Amino acid sequence: MHDLLARFGLDKHPRIITDPRGDETPEKDGVVVSFNPATGEPIAGVRLDTPEDYEQVTRKAVAAFDRWRRVPAPKRGEVVRRIGNAYRDVLHDLGSLLSLEMGKIRAEGIGEVQETIDIADFAVGQSRMLYGKTMPSERPLHAMKEQWLPLGPVGVITAFNFPNAVWGWNAMLAAVCGDVCVWKPSLLTPLITLATNEIAQRIASEMGHEDIFQVVIGTDDVVGERMIADRRYPLISATGSCRMGRRVGSVVAQRLGRCLLELGGNNAVIVEPDADLDLALKSTVFGAVGTCGQRCTTSRRLYLHESIADEFVTRLASAYQTIRIGDPLSDGTLVGPLITESAVQSFERAVAAAREQGGTIVAGGSRLDPSHLPANLRAGHFVSPTVIRAPRNNHLPIAMEETFAPILYVFTYRDLDEAIAMQNSVDQGLSSAIFTGSSRSAERFLDPAGTGSDCGLAYVNLGTSGAEIGGAFGGEKDTGGGRESGSDSWKAYMRRQTCTINFGETFALAQGIRFE
Ligand code: NAD
Repeated sequence: MHDLLARFGLDKHPRIITDPRGDETPEKDGVVVSFNPATGEPIAGVRLDTPEDYEQVTRKAVAAFDRWRRVPAPKRGEVVRRIGNAYRDVLHDLGSLLSLEMGKIRAEGIGEVQETIDIADFAVGQSRMLYGKTMPSERPLHAMKEQWLPLGPVGVITAFNFPNAVWGWNAMLAAVCGDVCVWKPSLLTPLITLATNEIAQRIASEMGHEDIFQVVIGTDDVVGERMIADRRYPLISATGSCRMGRRVGSVVAQRLGRCLLELGGNNAVIVEPDADLDLALKSTVFGAVGTCGQRCTTSRRLYLHESIADEFVTRLASAYQTIRIGDPLSDGTLVGPLITESAVQSFERAVAAAREQGGTIVAGGSRLDPSHLPANLRAGHFVSPTVIRAPRNNHLPIAMEETFAPILYVFTYRDLDEAIAMQNSVDQGLSSAIFTGSSRSAERFLDPAGTGSDCGLAYVNLGTSGAEIGGAFGGEKDTGGGRESGSDSWKAYMRRQTCTINFGETFALAQGIRFE
């Protein structure tokens, strides 16, 4: 039993099996085993929820919503404030547990929990700013206003790669808006889910509010499909692949519910000849290899102006030689493992396809040779971060797909319009970046007429990953159109009501209609 589990009381948790067999399958045995992706060893098993458990959780959520929505919003903010502080107290250990189970390096694990703390702070302020509007009525002695009301229980479905912060973005804002959350995590990360949720639920309970934050852990067939079809969840916020989003979107649309979809990305970086190339290089390497290429915002395509392409690729290849790959919990490691063996196979398939399509491997290109790893990591899912140069005609169909691994495809362009068109040519529209010293190029990329980047996130002289919580986060096209986190994303968790009040004594109709 790992010390970090005991740190969060998971060693005594009723649904945890501390010595899992390792061969249990969720469908057959009702247990999911969480593995350490760096060592391939089982960490612990988690008992799965049955349909009856799901029903009980949902009933509790409905009842809790009816109580919670009556709590004044700033008081709800006070609960969220204390939850944020509770995460502050365990920041390093919770970040380490996240690294242990998901495989991102410890600094990124801690950074992810910090993101939940940041959004908690943001939500506390928001709890006093759930502003509506007033507007003049066209009728005498009438008033008009818009107000924002709590929506209901929110089903939060999360991906394995941000197993703490994506819930945080949703749950902290939903809570101040007067909603309760039921969290359905990825079966690859049930332990960080339980540890994260228990803290929020304990603080809320201590303050007299039961069942504001609950978890259901189960297979997509038993729990996921039930939740998305369930009318008791007016909003399903789902983060994951485009394939999942198509299914969730259509099931929720069938019942005319609301969806907040945060789906796959295929993000590009454009480097102009007048860019600061040192800055572009560092940012591109972090964007491409951070979290072992398993961020939705990972840089997957690089467009280099033809005048700088050869030099930049040479520098990129030598930078890749210096990347330290290894145990995500060890200081100095920059890249950890992929999440599963099947992720390694997807990586290998994509590299093989790129080769067949005329791509040239410039760095990496294979599974990491286990003999280069310490003995305890030899069963881990390690690959070499990879750079592949497209053929001269830029035709590389595999680059149009999101492979959730550290593969960067490099293309060459002649002018910025061509680069922007290539950047926009994929199905997804999450994140995009340009490196340039010219404000004209930067503004062209951000053209307010919408002819520049077609993504939800556009960066100038920054890489594609590493968003701050203050802005609305999300993407266009197949990325799903949802917005979470900062700005006015809170509105997704509320329903709007337009109120018109007649404080006079006459019967007056709008549009001058007379009915006498
Ligand atoms: P996934 O699509 O396999 O799973 C995501 C979640 O959806 C899991 O909890 C899964 O159990 C659930 N799910 C799948 N089918 C379902 C169904 N029919 N009903 C209900 N729930 C269902 O994704 P993953 O491999 O965990 O994560 C990687 C993907 O997530 C990548 O495509 C990545 O780009 C994307 N992602 C997007 C964002 C974003 O904000 N845009 C953030 C993180 C990850």
